[in-house]
Amino acid sequence: MLNIDLRKIYLFKPVEPAPDPASLPVGGDLYYECLDCTTVLNSVPHIKCACVCGNLVGGGGELKVSKPTQVRVMRGKLK
Ligand SMILES: [Zn+2]
Repeated sequence: MLNIDLRKIYLFKPVEPAPDPASLPVGGDLYYECLDCTTVLNSVPHIKCACVCGNLVGGGGELKVSKPTQVRVMRGKLK
């Protein structure tokens, strides 16, 4: 499980305009913030990961989103 706070490493900027929850974009520089628990995860996670509340669960290059409306898509840059 990935338990580091990505905000300490990356600078996040919300993608504008906010993407349609029905078709969230994915990419190596795109991150999803779970609005229910504020966890930030990469949209193409290679290591097993999950947010605190279980809305986002990922691994193997795929992130499964239970409630897409509770996700903020952000672009991350290394600080
Ligand atoms: Zn969550």
